Amino acid sequence: MRVVVDPDKCVGHGRCYALAPDVFEPDDDGYCMVRHYEVWPAVAELVRRAVANCPEEALTIED
Ligand code: SF4
Repeated sequence: MRVVVDPDKCVGHGRCYALAPDVFEPDDDGYCMVRHYEVWPAVAELVRRAVANCPEEALTIED
């Protein structure tokens, strides 16, 4: 399972890195950067929650 962010859609709400800070982090302007594209089992549920909570639908899970 991998997670990617579409930088054209991200507007920097910060829900993703608030929910899963081990996987996502803000850049200097608050936009999402993916720290680890390969999602490991212990954080998979948090990543799914972050994807579901992104208001811009900027995050995508690739199996
Ligand atoms: S929740 Fe969505 S819009 Fe907000 S920072 Fe994360 S990816 Fe970007």
